[in-house]
Amino acid sequence: MVSGATDASIDRVLWTEAEIAARVAEVASELAADLRPLPEPAVIVGVATGAFLFLADLVRRVDVPLSVDFVRAESYGDGTESSGRPRVTADLKVDVAGKHVVVVEDIVDTGNTLSCLIAHLQKKGASSISVCTFLDKPARRTVNFQLVGDGKFYRGFECPDSFVVGYGMDYAELYRNLPYVGVLKPEIYNKKTHD
Ligand code: 5GP
Ligand code: MG
Ligand code: MG
Repeated sequence: MVSGATDASIDRVLWTEAEIAARVAEVASELAADLRPLPEPAVIVGVATGAFLFLADLVRRVDVPLSVDFVRAESYGDGTESSGRPRVTADLKVDVAGKHVVVVEDIVDTGNTLSCLIAHLQKKGASSISVCTFLDKPARRTVNFQLVGDGKFYRGFECPDSFVVGYGMDYAELYRNLPYVGVLKPEIYNKKTHD
């Protein structure tokens, strides 16, 4: 699609491609400043699939040695509400024992996925765990995840309590390739019945 044009399924754009790029650059320099003094390269763990664009834009602006890997955690299916029971459905390849891990997420909503992933990474022996999320919906939080060791919380934007898509985020595996973030028209997901 033409950059800047709006998909017919989008009700309104929350952050444009330019706004996202500017904010990601800021978060990347904050993260780089924290990773630079570490004695060993950190492991950046993207949560597939939603974090793929944010992770790609972020790491190429973090000019320190680091590893990149992915995990997959699923709780949503095709709906717009989390089932509240996330599972790790694809695991890391990189050994995180004794490493500083930065979990990169598209959006933190209830906090269930992150608390599951933090427990998972802690079991694998990560020495500290930070979280870097593109969007944060604090109004929806039901689980207070705990960072580990010297871990910090980084976020791109605070997100209003609407279901958003684009910049990696999907509805039923569509819209991930939109270069901006928008609110999906409710009639798009109301057409379907959810379990
Ligand atoms: P949580 O476990 O924190 O409730 O949800 C985390 C995951 O649910 C996110 O990583 C994301 O994949 C998905 N999610 C939560 N809110 C939204 C949203 O507004 N839009 C989309 N597309 N996915 C969301
Ligand atoms: Mg996610
Ligand atoms: Mg999804």
